[in-house]
Amino acid sequence: MLDRAGDLFAYESDGLTLLRGQASLVVFPTSTRAVADVIRACNEEGVPFVARGAGTGLSGGATPVEGCALIELSRMDRVLEIDPVNRTASVQPGVINSHLSELVAPLGLLYAPDPSSQTACTIGGNIAENSGGPHTLKYGTTSPHVLALEVVLPDGSLAVLGRRDGHNHGYDLRGVFVGSEGTLGIVTAATLRLLPVPEEICTLLASFSELVTACQAVSAIIAKGIVPAALELMDDRTIAAVEDSVYAAGYPRDARAVLLVELDGPAANVAAERVQVEGLLEASGAIEVRVARDEAERLALWRGRKGAFGAMGRLAPDLYVHDAVVPRTRLPQVVDQINHEAAVRGIRIANIMHAGDGNLHPNIPFDRRDPDQMSRVRELGAEILRICVDAGGVLSGEHGIGIEKRDYMHLLFSESDLEPMRWVHDVFDPEDCCNPGKVIPVPRACTESNPRHRGYDKVEF
Ligand SMILES: Cc1cc2nc3c(=O)[nH]c(=O)nc-3n(C[C@H](O)[C@H](O)[C@H](O)COP(=O)(O)OP(=O)(O)OC[C@H]3O[C@@H](n4cnc5c(N)ncnc54)[C@H](O)[C@@H]3O)c2cc1C
Repeated sequence: MLDRAGDLFAYESDGLTLLRGQASLVVFPTSTRAVADVIRACNEEGVPFVARGAGTGLSGGATPVEGCALIELSRMDRVLEIDPVNRTASVQPGVINSHLSELVAPLGLLYAPDPSSQTACTIGGNIAENSGGPHTLKYGTTSPHVLALEVVLPDGSLAVLGRRDGHNHGYDLRGVFVGSEGTLGIVTAATLRLLPVPEEICTLLASFSELVTACQAVSAIIAKGIVPAALELMDDRTIAAVEDSVYAAGYPRDARAVLLVELDGPAANVAAERVQVEGLLEASGAIEVRVARDEAERLALWRGRKGAFGAMGRLAPDLYVHDAVVPRTRLPQVVDQINHEAAVRGIRIANIMHAGDGNLHPNIPFDRRDPDQMSRVRELGAEILRICVDAGGVLSGEHGIGIEKRDYMHLLFSESDLEPMRWVHDVFDPEDCCNPGKVIPVPRACTESNPRHRGYDKVEF
């Protein structure tokens, strides 16, 4: 257990360093029973609690609610069972995402959800955020890969949601729990679906002299009925940050944008799709299309993409990784608007996109020590959400709502849409003690003083 101010400092925020909070202590349970004991003790003392995995979240989900007990689950990191015949894995929540795929690779299997943070983030955090990643385009986010969950509910009782064989009956409470951002209880074990490693994987890098033509190429590929495993876009500022860093991947520095396209599946299909995709990229105006010649080159291309957020550490002391979704065809116009709003505020952003999903990550480098810059960054963050929602998009593709976007839920949902979410929350957590104040905005009538609302009263963005 940690309870000294100096130790608690490291737990003040997750990856969204714009917002911070103070826990009163951090505990590191190693078993389901220990999690239940901690929750019961919190309930007896009237102390709220917040689950934390690796703390890589980007919407403030694991940011402490003032005075809470932070329940850090990274020490519950055992793989409980691998069933290669039924292609499932049962794990504790602290298992690191990429460790699971590494472990099952010799069996010809993989765990498909692959957030770019996968060498650090935990399965529990992935489940809570319904995380995505570059391969979401073909394989979906975390939810379809979760068969069953063992959870400790906010009153300290234990429940199993879903079934290991995937044959669920009654209400899909597994589905309710995935993506609930730690507000309905704590996952203490999960049974996950494994997939066979594809027979063939082919990765192409296409460079463009304009970002807009790269976006058009994305639409052209999807319109042709091809669903690549991944379709990722990086702009020139991202390319420069990657190439200046230890993640340098040989991306062309003179390009305004690059597209990373991955095709996978049976060898014959991949070969046919590769010819089609090369043709579409060239027809869309690519200045160069390069195919990774071997596994080493393929991995280097991906190391650059997955290391891109880390590489941006070179640009400023802090990084605000934004996340929103727009209809794919609106990407060029929305990116132009966002770049304009950034320029007006004297901010230069670097864009990374899961372009096939229309999922944008405008990355805003900033310096937290400069209050004026902080307020411009916050203002830009809010403007990006408005632009995306106005374009027919949504608030988040994969990073969740947390505290960052809670007060923007009204842009998408009416009070009568939000009310059933509150009912579901109240069934699981009637005392509002489990990660309170996250995800669902407090009804407007209650914002002045709501004794049950113990989390963040007002999030300034
Ligand atoms: C460089 C970088 C790249 C990223 N790339 C991606 C990406 O490609 N795709 C993507 O989706 N995300 C991405 N993220 C965001 C982040 O990694 C994911 O949201 C991840 O799932 C968080 O996992 P974590 O273990 O760090 O969870 P934390 O940040 O510790 O917690 C996240 C949320 O989960 C809850 N939680 C944690 N463990 C449990 C549990 N056992 N039971 C119940 N609730 C729990 C917390 O309360 C919190 O609300 C990235 C982050 C970084 C820093």
